[in-house]
Amino acid sequence: MPAPGTVLIIGSGLGGLTLAQSLRAGGIDVAVFERDRSPWERPQGYRLHLDADAVNAVREVLPPHLVALFEATSYFTEPFTTILDTDLTVARRLPAAGDVHANVDRATLRRILLTGLDDVLHFGKRLERYESTSAGVTAYFGDGSTAHGDVLVGADGIRSAVRARRAPHLSTVDAGITAIYGRLPLDVARPRVPAEVLDDIFAIASDHRKVFLGLGSVLFPSRHEQDDYVVCVVGGRHEFFPGTAGRSGNDLRELAARALADWPGGAADLVRQGDPGTFFPVRMDTSVPGTLDAPTNVTLLGDAVHAMTPTLGRGANLAMRDAALLGRALRTVAAGDSDLDEALSRYERDMTAYGFRVVREAARIGEQRMAQNPLPAAALQ
Ligand SMILES: Cc1cc2nc3c(=O)[nH]c(=O)nc-3n(C[C@H](O)[C@H](O)[C@H](O)COP(=O)(O)OP(=O)(O)OC[C@H]3O[C@@H](n4cnc5c(N)ncnc54)[C@H](O)[C@@H]3O)c2cc1C
Repeated sequence: MPAPGTVLIIGSGLGGLTLAQSLRAGGIDVAVFERDRSPWERPQGYRLHLDADAVNAVREVLPPHLVALFEATSYFTEPFTTILDTDLTVARRLPAAGDVHANVDRATLRRILLTGLDDVLHFGKRLERYESTSAGVTAYFGDGSTAHGDVLVGADGIRSAVRARRAPHLSTVDAGITAIYGRLPLDVARPRVPAEVLDDIFAIASDHRKVFLGLGSVLFPSRHEQDDYVVCVVGGRHEFFPGTAGRSGNDLRELAARALADWPGGAADLVRQGDPGTFFPVRMDTSVPGTLDAPTNVTLLGDAVHAMTPTLGRGANLAMRDAALLGRALRTVAAGDSDLDEALSRYERDMTAYGFRVVREAARIGEQRMAQNPLPAAALQ
């Protein structure tokens, strides 16, 4: 295969943007194609927990002034998950693996990752299909346009159009869980929750039905407190959250609060304090672990290949780790230190090994804590 002259990235999520930054830093020609018409067309969630995978990726791919901005807008938490009783008192604090944990605002992180990429980002470009030959890859978009490159990367999320062609045998399945996310202003949450909820990575309580309430803070270290917030998530088996599609924020907040109506100590009232405009539902799917066939000039990263339920808070971390790893691999090819085939083969072997390991772990913990559907038996090996 030729050296990576031009790399086409499909999708401008956290993985695609991290890869674009890495390639740009390495002087590799890159173009990013995103189906949304702008970076802010769709709400994409609030708080993100980042661990060493994402933090190291940021430090590796971004120029120093953007790394400094990232550090200044990240809240480095205590390395614990707080387990709460249903009355919202602290039952215990579980030490988290790794020693770097940051809670960040997703929109702020995306804004940082988008910086300096204006000339390579193309919005309103939904990939419909691609054709790959030994001479390169042609991408075909919904608006009738095409793009040609030497390598194409599917960073297009859980319903990846790239995966559907590159690895049609890899599937996703319903995890059985619905969750409703919303935001509480910090000054509303602070008097109602133990201090650990604000200091730790995340706090979670669950009942005998495995219906859960999760709380995670986003505190901007160098900004005024009015920007700070606590994200709340109420979830469990679909049957406890019927008919969430198309409901207003007000309705979703009430549905979430009612699911906690029997809890002592004000959990339902806490949820009712959330800003109604911020509530949205998520039906959780998970990838089914498998293998990738021999590498071609088309590869995958992030949720496009190993999407997982958010029990471990690791999906974005892995997408960014993949991007840094793939960026490094393509840079060795550009430098003439490696053949493209060899570099992609190594990348895909490593990425699927750690990615699918975490998918299995997230499913195992998800089953214990929130009654997630088990993965098909064949995927557990
Ligand atoms: C509510 C919620 C909370 C979460 N919290 C955490 C957390 O705390 N920590 C953590 O690590 N992970 C978390 N995750 C998981 C994390 O958000 C994902 O794993 C991560 O965003 C995956 O990044 P990605 O770049 O692979 O895909 P995505 O972020 O899904 O980006 C894919 C992009 O591709 C675009 N696209 C899709 N199809 C096409 C197409 N055909 N053509 C062109 N563009 C296309 C999409 O519009 C999108 O912009 C959470 C997820 C959710 C839903």
